[in-house]
Amino acid sequence: MEKQGEMLDERAKKERELIESGARACINCVHWNREKPEADDGSCQRFPPTVFAFPIKGALGQPGFGTNCFFPRCRPEIQCGEFTPKASITMQ
Ligand code: SF4
Repeated sequence: MEKQGEMLDERAKKERELIESGARACINCVHWNREKPEADDGSCQRFPPTVFAFPIKGALGQPGFGTNCFFPRCRPEIQCGEFTPKASITMQ
């Protein structure tokens, strides 16, 4: 349990450094959403979710396909060309 606490402290330290440095990284991007505080990553919601089709077997064993959709998962230190700083959002 103590080891987990140390890992969370280390993660919090690294993330604080990213925030304070103003890095062009997901953690400082308006499009990033960490759904759960304890999660190591979050989702990029710059664009709508991507739809995936995958093979399944029907109730009678016949082949078919199902669909689902996801936002891309991104770690807080990831950088990309769509970065938009949180501070750029203005209230109207
Ligand atoms: S992947 Fe790019 S657009 Fe998405 S949250 Fe990270 S920096 Fe922002």
